[in-house]
Amino acid sequence: MHKRQFLLTAMALLLTSGRRARAAGAGENALQTSWQDFLPPKAEISLSLTPLKKPAKEWRKELPADSYAVLFQESTEAPFTSPLDKEKRAGVFLCRACRLPLFTSAMKFDSGTGWPSFTTHIPGHLGKKKDFKAFFLRTEYHCVRCGGHQGHVFDDGPAPTRERWCNNGLALAFLPREA
Ligand SMILES: [Zn+2]
Repeated sequence: MHKRQFLLTAMALLLTSGRRARAAGAGENALQTSWQDFLPPKAEISLSLTPLKKPAKEWRKELPADSYAVLFQESTEAPFTSPLDKEKRAGVFLCRACRLPLFTSAMKFDSGTGWPSFTTHIPGHLGKKKDFKAFFLRTEYHCVRCGGHQGHVFDDGPAPTRERWCNNGLALAFLPREA
């Protein structure tokens, strides 16, 4: 009898904590949970996270050569060349290839590096891998849907996350919240 009551209580606690974790998202911050507030009211944006099986040569036909080189050949744009580095309007930054939302304007900060920089990202929309291309170990990140390379993440950003997501402007498109 007591054992049964204990089990029911334990199950109820698990269910409650599970729900709370989903609502806030495990380890998510306030900028991440409110990201959809930055979409325009009638945005026609697919939020599907199913990986696209689209060959690189198809993307090559659709994208400008410089964007293609960053997204699918892991090239890096020259600093201070992207107009998105100075973009200050409210809105959402999308993957330039598949248009999956990756960051909001509230996540952006001026890092002074000459690349669009963010303190955090839209949860679940970016994947990471270790990158040994520089003289030191870096963490590369990419769009989870099309696999397109976006940039590198460092741990020298501002509070509260201390993260600096350093992104190529050529790999992004900006969707302002107000038309
Ligand atoms: Zn993408």
